[in-house]
Amino acid sequence: MTLTVVNPATEKSIAELPQAGVEETDAAVARAKAAYPGWRAVAPNDRARLLRRLATLVEEHQEELAQIESRNVGKPIAGARGEVEMVANVFQFYAGAVDKHYGATIPVAGGVDLTFREPLGVVGLIVPWNFPLNIASWKLGPALACGNTVVLKPAELTPLSALRLAELALEAGIPEAVLNVLVGKGSIVGARLVEHPDVAKIGFTGSTEVGRGVMQGAAGTIKRVTLELGGKSANVVFEDADLEKAASAAPYAVFDNAGQDCCARSRVLVQSSVYDRFLDSLITATRGVKVGDPADETTEMGPLISAQHRETVASFVDGDVLFRGDVPQGPGYWYPATLVEATNEDRVAREEVFGPVAAVISFDDEEDAIRIANDTPYGLSGSIWTRDGARALRVARALETGVLSVNSNSSVRHSTPFGGFKQSGFGRELGMQALEGYSEVKNVYVATDA
Ligand code: NAD
Repeated sequence: MTLTVVNPATEKSIAELPQAGVEETDAAVARAKAAYPGWRAVAPNDRARLLRRLATLVEEHQEELAQIESRNVGKPIAGARGEVEMVANVFQFYAGAVDKHYGATIPVAGGVDLTFREPLGVVGLIVPWNFPLNIASWKLGPALACGNTVVLKPAELTPLSALRLAELALEAGIPEAVLNVLVGKGSIVGARLVEHPDVAKIGFTGSTEVGRGVMQGAAGTIKRVTLELGGKSANVVFEDADLEKAASAAPYAVFDNAGQDCCARSRVLVQSSVYDRFLDSLITATRGVKVGDPADETTEMGPLISAQHRETVASFVDGDVLFRGDVPQGPGYWYPATLVEATNEDRVAREEVFGPVAAVISFDDEEDAIRIANDTPYGLSGSIWTRDGARALRVARALETGVLSVNSNSSVRHSTPFGGFKQSGFGRELGMQALEGYSEVKNVYVATDA
């Protein structure tokens, strides 16, 4: 059966693709397995050069890749260009890391002890639809740098940019079958990768629910797993913050990518003493978010990914709506930027909406803020807004979350570790830490007594 790929801003088909099943998945794993000894043996400097060439090709094809991503996900084109720029930076970074990730010599009695960083073999990479190319690159960069070969499964809704990237990898000179892309269903292709005995590791980004199944499935073969899952992050605004700055940034912490962002700070926690003042500014700023055609250079928020997802998002909004924005008429899976007043017990504050809906919650003092922020099964991201440096560090240490920013929404960079606490997953992507997840440490003792 073929797969119809749709532009969510027009609801029109933009591609028809053949879908892989179990047989094609097994064949791709076999190809990746056959390519592994050769790729692993490529001299570090040469492997680095190939990854650098891929980074350059991504840069040269920035506009083309951004257009693909914008049409397939409904992302505003300006943001999509930024995402492609990050993909190039990720490959540059891991090209540079190839020969800087090495073992140690450890003092022991009677001989010499050495550690080596060994690749794992064939790794299966399963990625979601919200940042298709970006998240694929976060896994591909370290996986290829360490000498693994890869079977990449993009989400059913958004396979186009991964297919183009695989072509660019070949053009860069990365040998055939080192990077294999499979278009197909998660329940078939994804599940087969998870149970396949020749796949050494699954790097997964997606929902906590599917991630739980991946972890269970991987147990059968004691596969390594890295899980980057859902989030319900807090944007904590203290009374001593620059309130105007915090309020004008807050909408973009939720409504970027139409809220389909695992890092969305979708719980806005505001100190009660400044609640009304902050809310006025927040509503003004949210009104300013420009929603519309993703191809328009000035658009800040596009549609949701699908009609079904829009229904799920809408099901969360039934309480006190503080603000609801406008959306374009006509085709497209539009949903307005929405602010709702909530307590942390409400469903909108407990579950990941994955849409442009922010729950605004008030707190009394620092202790209360920390308690509410941590009262969630998730722990991915978050922001703290305060002018008090000691408080910023105190609260940052107290929050149970993998990634944080102070007086900013921004916490994802190619060179810094990214990943979750609690049910947001485990393992780290990006930065030098990601290399740990795509290599094993081998310890060799050499006796030197005569
Ligand atoms: P999803 O879990 O439905 O799907 C993710 C991927 O898993 C897709 O490629 C899908 O085909 C595949 N899949 C589905 N069923 C599978 C199975 N049984 N076995 C193996 N693979 C299977 O998630 P989604 O709807 O594509 O993405 C949204 C979710 O991803 C949100 O929960 C979001 O928070 C999360 N996410 C997390 C991060 C992060 O870094 N923590 C980043 C982006 C998105």
